[in-house]
Amino acid sequence: MKRAVFIERDGVLNEVRSGPKQQIAPISLEEFKLITAAAEPLKKLKAVGFVLIATTNQPGLSRGYQSRRELDRMHDLLRRTFTLDDIMLCPHDEADHCPCRKPRAGLLIEAAFKWQLSLDHSYVISDKWQDAEAARTAGCTSLLIKSPWIGEVHRDFVLSDLVSVVDKILRLKHQVECA
Ligand SMILES: [Zn+2]
Repeated sequence: MKRAVFIERDGVLNEVRSGPKQQIAPISLEEFKLITAAAEPLKKLKAVGFVLIATTNQPGLSRGYQSRRELDRMHDLLRRTFTLDDIMLCPHDEADHCPCRKPRAGLLIEAAFKWQLSLDHSYVISDKWQDAEAARTAGCTSLLIKSPWIGEVHRDFVLSDLVSVVDKILRLKHQVECA
């Protein structure tokens, strides 16, 4: 079984604007500013054999303000920049009550089938509580980057930045292998 690191897209891989209650995601390639400093630490995870999968809620697709073609262009750039193996996305609105919209764990479970992953040995990186909740449900270890959006739900680790998160995952992986 393979292991994955799941990475929330908005706020970790690309910049977002801060709204009063939540982040506001870019909806066009022009607005889509990548956090290129994330590329080096993610390469370290790839180098030790993790499958790298970005996950994202994109309710704009069902609400109609996000064009699918524009999103595909954004995600082509995302894949190329961060050597991602996959991008799993929920296109639904809250009102659709789908199983894949985070904080539900559907995207992680779907990825586990597709990539033959052991979720118990996989990790979730995010700056938002919804991903920690999905990780808990799926049995993954969650690592949150400090932000105004991490809330109070269970999470395994809160760290100051992505570099610290990646170092922590590498140490945890080593501990599991040496146990
Ligand atoms: Zn969904």
